[in-house]
Order: sequence, then C-alpha cells, then structure tokens
Amino acid sequence: MATAIPPYAARLIEDEVGTIWPRAGRELVLCYPNTYRVAGASLGLQVIYRLLNARAGVSCQRAVLPEDAFTAKVPQPVRSLEHGMPLGAFDTVLFSIAYELDLPHLAWMLERGEIPALSAERGARHPLIIAGGPLTQSNVLPLYDFVDVVVMGEAEVAIETLLDVLQSTEDKDERLRLLADAPGFWVPTLHGDAVPDVLVARGPHIPAIGQWRSPHAEFSNMALLEAARGCPRYCKFCVVRAPASPMRSPELERVLAALDLPLYQEAPRIGLVGAAVSDWPPIKDALRAIVERGKGVGISSLRADRLDDEFVGLLAAGGYRTLTVASDAASQRLRGKMMKGLRARHFIAAAQLAKDHGLRSLKLYVILGLPDETDKDIDELIDLCRALRAIVPLAITISPFVPKLHTPLADAPFEPPSSQQRKLERVRRALQRDRVEVRFDSPKWAWIEYRLSQGGRSTGLAVWQALQAGGGFAAWKRAFAGLDDADDAEERAAAVAARGHGLWPVEGAR
Ligand code: SF4
Repeated sequence: MATAIPPYAARLIEDEVGTIWPRAGRELVLCYPNTYRVAGASLGLQVIYRLLNARAGVSCQRAVLPEDAFTAKVPQPVRSLEHGMPLGAFDTVLFSIAYELDLPHLAWMLERGEIPALSAERGARHPLIIAGGPLTQSNVLPLYDFVDVVVMGEAEVAIETLLDVLQSTEDKDERLRLLADAPGFWVPTLHGDAVPDVLVARGPHIPAIGQWRSPHAEFSNMALLEAARGCPRYCKFCVVRAPASPMRSPELERVLAALDLPLYQEAPRIGLVGAAVSDWPPIKDALRAIVERGKGVGISSLRADRLDDEFVGLLAAGGYRTLTVASDAASQRLRGKMMKGLRARHFIAAAQLAKDHGLRSLKLYVILGLPDETDKDIDELIDLCRALRAIVPLAITISPFVPKLHTPLADAPFEPPSSQQRKLERVRRALQRDRVEVRFDSPKWAWIEYRLSQGGRSTGLAVWQALQAGGGFAAWKRAFAGLDDADDAEERAAAVAARGHGLWPVEGAR
C-alpha cells in the first residue's frame, strides 16, 4: 500500500538506535498514546515491541501521538513510525496505556489513524483494537466502548496466547471468543463489567531488557534496563504498593549479563528502571558495574532512607546531577498515616549527601490534597523545603492527590481544584524568596484524571463527548456534569464492583 512517513516520524526514526524493521507477515502496530519523548521512557513498551516482532510470521511497527496533536490547526495524521502506514491498514492495533489521561489520546489516535474511535462504529474490516499497560492496575472500565480487548496486568505473560489467537484466525468474532476464554483478557462485549484478574510476570521475564534509545526520548540516549519490578512497601495512595504489585528482584548476575548486550555496550548512559530500585539489595553493585564500564547512570526516584555516602558517590561518578527523592505527603504526621516510612531527617541527610558529592540540586516529589491534610501540614512542608534549600539548591514537584481503585484510599475524596490551587499558590509564594523552584501538575487535569479513575463505561463515553466538544476543560466539565445529572445507577454499580476486581493474589497482602 502507498505510505507516507510524516516528517516528525522520519526524524525520530533516523536518530533512533534499535529500530526493528518490518518483515513480511501479519501486520501489527503498537501505539503509545503520548508523544515519542514519553514513549521512550516506557521500558514495558520496548519489551512488547521486541516480543511481538520475535514471533515468526508477525511484524510489528509503532505509532505515537504527534507532538502538536492538540495545538496544530490541522493536526498531522497518525502513521506508523517505521513505514508511515495509517493505523487502519493494520491487522491489529495495540495500545499501551500508562494512566487515565492517555485515554482521550487513544481515541484521538484512532480517529486520526483512520479508525472509528468507538467500537460500535467499527466493523469486520477494521483492525482488532487491544489495550494493556500500567492503567490496567487501576481502572479499565472507561475503555469499554473504545477497545475490543484489554490485556490485564503485565502483558509479556500474555503475548504467546495473544499471538496464537491472532495467527489462528482472521475472523474477529472468533478471535474475541478465544481471547475471552484465556486468563487475563477482558473482552467488554462478552464479559460486560466483569474484569478478570491481572497477570503477574515472574522468572525469565525479569529483568526487562530495553530495545531502543534515542536523543528524542525523555531520558536522552539512555538505554533502559529493569532493576526491580513492583515494590515491597505499602504506601496507602499508591497502585504499585506490595499487595498490588509485589517486589520481584532479578539476580544481580542477570542484570550484569544484560550489560554485555549491544544496546547497553553502545549506549552512553544506562537507566535502571523500577518503582523501588533503591530497595533492590544489589543496587550499589549494579551501579558500580555501570560506572566501571565508563557509562553514565540514571535512576528516576530514590528512597531517601536508602541513600548513603557510597550510593550517592556512585551516582555522582555516573554523571548524576540531581538527586531525586519523594516525600509524597506534606508532613511527618501524614507520611506516617500513608505508611511512607520516611522522616524529615532522611531528606536532610539526602540534601547533605548531594552537597558533599558536588551534585547540582535536590528534587523533592510531594503530593498535596491527601485526606485530613491541614494548614499545619503545609507549614511543615514549607519549613522542610527551607531547611533543604539551606543545604543545596532545591526543586519541588507537587502533584494533586488522585484516589485510585485497588488502594486503601480508593474511596477518599478528591480535593476540589480551587482549593488545591490555593494550597499550591501558598507554597509557591512562601518559597519564592528562598529561591526554591516549585513546579506543579494542573489540579484541573488531576480532577479529570480522578473522574476517569473512578468511573465506568459512561465515564468513557464522556471522554468522547469532551473530545468532540474541543477537549478543553469546559468541555470536560460539561461532559461530566451530564453524567452527574443522569445519576447512572449501573455506572455506579460497575465502579463499586471494580474496586474489588483484579487484586493480585499474593501472600501477605493487607
Ligand atoms: S509510593 Fe513508592 S515506596 Fe510507596 S508503595 Fe508506591 S512505589 Fe512503593
């Protein structure tokens, strides 16, 4: 078929190392409903891309959201990066969805890829639309009317089954029937609101090995390698907490062996990936091995109480310039209530280590709007930031608290955006004179994320209404107001049921 690679895709592919070029076979496209820059930070996406292409008779390309998707007067079409094909030309279209706000991007990509966004408007000639990714740990019900199938949990476990089915028949209904019978696949038209349990990867799947690196990715030219999966801890707000995503640690030898693969040998920097990398016992040995190979290192966020002189020294030797830690809650009282297990002295010690090793700055992640938060908690955060700034340059990134299903705080209230905004302004003004850089996520978009994280099928359809009405905040408000007026009992029942589904079957869960 005639293809036209859009200019943005041509530039991205030209500079990428690790592209898998399509061969003959059943044609799949793996989509990331965000920009290439963000997609490059997803190690899971890289793994799935490689696994799909490893199957004989299958060829998988990729597609991403164009940078100017929501700003250009005439947005660019969505085409595959490798060969410039519209999504509608593929046999199967797969999406990896990181979180709720990627849902409107998925609908947008389908439409701009020449496929109707709503499954009811698609027929036998349209590709099968499959979703998976980290969102499946939270709430998938709003995907109901957009996708044909959802792979629940860690999708590498399901790839063999999925490809067996795709290669066994081209009949769409038959494919849906076969997948609906397999563990971990949710087929909304056959299962309704009954979402199956998530799949858990173990053994040979860990550590996950990267596939590409690029100067245009968020971690520029960094080859990603998994150091740990899941988390051993129980922070009450977090979807990665131990009961939902138990810690799975690879043996050090397997991580070191991966470093000998061409992707890592040729990369200037290696990023160790995992929600709890600093809880992985041999982390310092792995860092030392990377530094001894003359490579830079990257780790996204560290626990302040796991840091010591040797740890930060290795990070500094690996070119690390900003030490990033998470307080999450604003005060000691709230950190305790959230089971965060960190005290102010841990952050002070981290700041001192950053200074001692000549790092440029400390970055602190904070969540505001947790249940029971008071002005006193905010005052304590401001005092802590001042104490840290007295030691080392400081940047804080504030996110509004969004209650997620399958966490102990699933039913907690969401603080209204106006009240969140007042708190943010208060922190920003208080720290202005101290030259603390304060960044924050929009409370309005956090509210949309909240609605999507708690809603059901009708909430998904509200996404479509909001997009049709321009996708601005006013359009979202109108779409959700219509939902509230309808008082959809079925929607509420589904969301309540979803709170109980898909909990990971692990021992010691609480
Ligand atoms: S916030 Fe971090 S430490 Fe706490 S459960 Fe989540 S991943 Fe683990």
